[in-house]
Amino acid sequence: GTFQSLGLSKDVFAGINRMGYKLPTPVQRKSLPEALAGKDVVCMARTGSGKTAAFLIPVLEKLQSHSPRVGARALILSPTRELAMQTIKFAKGLSHFTDLRVALLVGGDSMDDQFEALSRNPDIIIGTPGRVMHHLQEVPDFSLAAVQMAVFDEADRLFEMGFAEQIKEILRTMPEERQTLLYSATLPKMLAQFARAGLQDPQLIRL
Ligand code: AMP
Repeated sequence: GTFQSLGLSKDVFAGINRMGYKLPTPVQRKSLPEALAGKDVVCMARTGSGKTAAFLIPVLEKLQSHSPRVGARALILSPTRELAMQTIKFAKGLSHFTDLRVALLVGGDSMDDQFEALSRNPDIIIGTPGRVMHHLQEVPDFSLAAVQMAVFDEADRLFEMGFAEQIKEILRTMPEERQTLLYSATLPKMLAQFARAGLQDPQLIRL
């Protein structure tokens, strides 16, 4: 269980070193091989487990480099603005040696700044469901039709906070042919049902 043994690209591996991560955490050791192999994953993981890097590394590895014309190829949904801001911080750190572009779409920030960010053709969108949905409705050029990878972070909280309908709407705008990763501290019945419907033969990872 080392980062070296995962066969990561040079740029992503350099990003991991830059963050000072020496060894994968238990969550990373279990989930990275499955996620890097392109499988859908339901991972029981809480804050502090290293779950953020556990999904960011496969996202960066899959996208590799900036693609100007296709539209965003990864979407990461967070339950709160604060969590999304933490996630983009790690995404920028880990992707430091790539030219991938990341945009943050959260409530409370100016829509104009976010329109501007979207006009720069981000490869990765990190956001909260309400604001992502709002942009889908407001910005004619913005779509999730090119998303190859969707991540639901703290999925139990996403559902507790009443985002279920928005999440389903957002899912409908993404291709069915995509990889989906779901991280959650708990797996209530409603979430397990969602995972069965929205993910394809997910690997369930518990520690
Ligand atoms: P998270 O659970 O994603 O909120 O991460 C908790 C903390 O662990 C963050 O400060 C990460 O930067 C850090 N972290 C993530 N992966 C590793 C690792 N492999 N080695 C050391 N620290 C890590």
